[in-house]
Amino acid sequence: VMLRGTDSGDHAFCKGHCRIAATSQPRSFDAFRKAGGYTTVEQLLMFPASREEILDRVANSRIVGRAGVGYPVYQKWQNLMAAGGDPVVIVNANEGEIATFKDRTILESDPHAVLEAALVAALITGARTIFFYLKDDYSHLHPVLLNAIDAVARAAIAPDICIHLRRSGGAYICGEETALISSLEGYPARPRERPPFPTDHGYMGRPTLVHNVETFYRLRAAWGARMEPDIAVSGLLDPTATLFSVSGRVRRPGPVLVSGMQQPLATLLDAAGGLEDGHELGGMVIGGSAGTIIRSHQCFVRLADLIANGLRLGTGSVIVFGANDDKRWIAAQMASFLARENCGQCSPCRIGSQMSARALADGQLDGLDDLASAMSEASICGLGKSAGRFLAGVLPLLRENH
Ligand code: SF4
Repeated sequence: VMLRGTDSGDHAFCKGHCRIAATSQPRSFDAFRKAGGYTTVEQLLMFPASREEILDRVANSRIVGRAGVGYPVYQKWQNLMAAGGDPVVIVNANEGEIATFKDRTILESDPHAVLEAALVAALITGARTIFFYLKDDYSHLHPVLLNAIDAVARAAIAPDICIHLRRSGGAYICGEETALISSLEGYPARPRERPPFPTDHGYMGRPTLVHNVETFYRLRAAWGARMEPDIAVSGLLDPTATLFSVSGRVRRPGPVLVSGMQQPLATLLDAAGGLEDGHELGGMVIGGSAGTIIRSHQCFVRLADLIANGLRLGTGSVIVFGANDDKRWIAAQMASFLARENCGQCSPCRIGSQMSARALADGQLDGLDDLASAMSEASICGLGKSAGRFLAGVLPLLRENH
C-alpha cells in the first residue's frame, strides 16, 4: 500500500497517531495487481453470490462518509439499492474545504485503491456508470487518473462498467453532492433541496451514490486489509480513526491519522513536527469554514470529550495558530472564503456571508448573533447552515478579547 506511515517509530498506532505521506509516484496498475488489487472485483464478477459477503463487511466496518456529514455508508448503499432503477456511482474528488488535502494525498499515492472501491460499489449496487469528479485545481492528478482508468479498461477488469473522468470548475460548492450532480448534468453547481435525496433521484433522475475519496479508500481497506496488512490501512479500518489535514503554524504540514478519540488534538502537533519556531499554541481551527475555532487549552482535552460537547470535525481540517495570531482575522478569512464560494442561490447565505465577512474584518460584532441564526436556520444547504454555526461558535471567543 502506497500511503505510508512515517515518523512513527516501530509502530505508529501503538502511539495512536501516524503521519501520512504521499509517495513520489502513484502505485502503478501492475504493482496494485501484484498486491492483490482488483481481486474483489474479479470475485464479484465470477461469483455474484459473494456480494452478500462484501455487503456484510461494509456493514461490519461501520464506515461513515468522510466528506463532513458522517452518514453511515452501509445505510446509503441500502437506500440506493431500495430505489432500484439504473444507478450511478460518483467519486467526489472535489476536495474544497479550506486547508483540506487528505483526498489529494490518497489519489497521489494510490488511485487504483479508490477506483477498485468504486467498481465494487458499482457491482454491488448494480451501477454501470461511474463518474470520477475531480477538483480542477488538482490538475496534476488528471493524467494520473486518466492513466489509471485507461489501465483498468485495457485489462478489461470490469468491461461492462464505464468510468468517466470529469473536472469540476474548482468551486467549493461543487463538492456538495446535489450541486455536484447539477454540475455533472451541465447546470450551474447549485445545491438542490432535499428530499428527494440523491440515492432516490440523483444524476439525470437516476439513483446516485456519492462518496468522497477517503470514504472509498476506507471501504477498500475494509475488504482489502487481509491481503495488505499495513499501518495506514489498518488505521483506516478503524471506524474511530480520523484522517486530519494539519496545517498552519506547524513545522511539517500534512495528513495525520489519529486512532480513536481518547487523545487530545495536541497529539497532532507532534506528528506535524511541532510548532513553528517562535510561536506558542494559540488554538486550532477545526473543520475549516464549516467548523469552529478552539482555544489552546481545549487542544489538550480528549477528542471524545470535545465531540460530546458539540465539536464537529467536518472534513478533518486542522489549522494551528499561534498565541499572537489574530483570531478575528482568522474568522474573517473563513467568512470571506464562504462569501466568495457560496453559489448565490439563497439570500441568508449569500448576503449573510458577505455581511459577516465585512463585520468581522471591521471588528463590528454587534448583531452578528442574529445573523448567525438566520444563516444557520434559513440557508438552503449545509454550506450556509455551517457558516452560521461557525459564526455563532466563534463570537464568544472573539468577544473575550474585544
Ligand atoms: Fe448556495 Fe449558500 Fe444557499 Fe447553499 S446555502 S444554496 S451555497 S447560497
